[in-house]
Amino acid sequence: MTAYSGPVFDMAVKQFTVIADYLSIPEDVRPRLLMPKRAVTVSCPIHRDDGTTAVFEGYRVQHHLTLGPTKGGTRFAASVDLGEVAALAIWMSWKCALVGLPYGGAKGGIGVDPSSLSKRELEALSRRYMQEMIPFVGPHTDVMAPDMGTNEQVMAWFMDTYSMYQGRTVTEIVTGKPVSAGGTLGRREATGRGVAHLTRRVMNDRGIDSNRATAVVQGFGNVGSIAALELHRMGVKVIAVSDHTGALHRPAGLDIPGLIDHAAAHGSIAGYSNELVFDPEDVLTLPCDVVIPAAMERVIDARVAANLRCRIVAEGANGPTTPEADLILERRQDEIFLIPDILCNSGGVVVSYFEWVQDLQQLFWEEEEVMRREYQILDRAFDRMVMRAARDKVFNRTAAMAIGVDRVRGAKETRGLFP
Ligand code: NAD
Repeated sequence: MTAYSGPVFDMAVKQFTVIADYLSIPEDVRPRLLMPKRAVTVSCPIHRDDGTTAVFEGYRVQHHLTLGPTKGGTRFAASVDLGEVAALAIWMSWKCALVGLPYGGAKGGIGVDPSSLSKRELEALSRRYMQEMIPFVGPHTDVMAPDMGTNEQVMAWFMDTYSMYQGRTVTEIVTGKPVSAGGTLGRREATGRGVAHLTRRVMNDRGIDSNRATAVVQGFGNVGSIAALELHRMGVKVIAVSDHTGALHRPAGLDIPGLIDHAAAHGSIAGYSNELVFDPEDVLTLPCDVVIPAAMERVIDARVAANLRCRIVAEGANGPTTPEADLILERRQDEIFLIPDILCNSGGVVVSYFEWVQDLQQLFWEEEEVMRREYQILDRAFDRMVMRAARDKVFNRTAAMAIGVDRVRGAKETRGLFP
C-alpha cells in the first residue's frame, strides 16, 4: 500500500512491472523509477453564486525531474483522486521519454464536475488552484497543460494568475493557452491530429483503403472530435461516436462537422438526433476498422478486448486498456494493431513542448511548421516502437514503454540519486 493505491495507480504499477521484468531491472532500482518524486494536495475554497462557500480538493504529482522540468495536464472531473493523478503522471514520463522531450511527467487535477459550476465559479476555482500551486510550479520546474474537463480558457486563467503573482507576464508557465494569450497555432488540434496521423500510417501499412474504412470514437471532446474530424477528412466513415450523455450510430457514416457544431453549441452530442441513438456500451465492439477510445481510463477490459471486431485500436485516451485486456490484445496482435496511448496521444505534449519553446524564445511558428515537426517526431517514435517490437518479438505497448523507461533509467544512472 502507498498513498497512491487505487485501481488506476495499480494499473500503472502492473504495466511497469511487465516492462521492468522485460528489461531485467533489478528489484531495488524499480521504486526509484516508479514512485513519484513529489505530490501536493491542496484545498481550494470558492464563493458559490448562491453566497455559500465550497471547498474542492486539488492535486499535483511530479513524477521525476531527471530529464528537465515536469510536464502534464490538469484534469477537472468528479472521479479525480491522488492515485489517478499519480498514474497519469507516470504515464506522462514514459510518453515524454519515448518521443524524446526534455521533460519528466506530471499531472494534476481537482475532484469536481466542471459542468456543475457556473463560468464565474469555474474561473474562481481555476485561479485558486493555480494560486495554491505557485510554490511548486514554474517554467523550469513544472509546466501545466489541459486535460479532461479543462480547456484553453482555464489555461489562460492559470497563466494570468501565476503572472499576477510574479508581476510580469509568464506565458511559458502553462501550455494549451489560446493563441491570443501566448499559445501556439495547432495545439488545440494536436492530440487528435496525431491520433489520426498514426492511424493513417497503420492503415497504409496494413493495406486498408481510407475511403472504404470505418471508425468508432468514444469521447467527443478535444481529442475525440478532432480525431474523428481528421479521419472524416481522409474519407474514413465514422460510424459511431459517444460521450458522457450517450452514443450515436449511423452505418453510412456520421456528419462529423455537423456533430462538432452541435456539440459546440450544446456542450454534448445529446439532442443531435433521436433516430441515431445507440447503446454506448456497444460502441467499442461494433464491427469496424478503427476503434478510438478518447475519453476515460480502463474502458477496454478483458470482456471488451475479447469482443473487439476491429483491425486497429488507436488509444487517444490515457490508460484506456486494463492489464488483463492487454494480455488478450497481445494474443490478438496479428488481427488487431495497437497504437498504445503513450505514443498515440503524444501529439498533445509534443506541441505543448513547441509552445513552451516558442514562449521562452518569444518567436512564433506558422501552423504548417508546427504540424510538420509534430508528425516528424511521431513518425520517428512510431518507427522505433515497431522496430523494437519486431526485434524482441514483444507487444507494441511493451516496446513503447520500454523505450521510455530505458531513457529515464539511463538518465538516472548517469546523474545519480538526487533528481
Ligand atoms: P475533454 O474533456 O475535452 O473530452 C472528454 C470527452 O469524453 C467528452 O466528450 C466527454 O463527454 C466524454 N466522456 C466522459 N465520460 C464518458 C463516458 N463514460 N463514456 C463516453 N464518453 C465519455 O477531454 P480530452 O482533452 O479530449 O481528453 C480525453 C482523453 O484524452 C483523456 O484520457 C485525456 O487524458 C487524454 N489526452 C488528452 C490530451 C489533450 O491534449 N487534451 C492529450 C493526451 C491525452
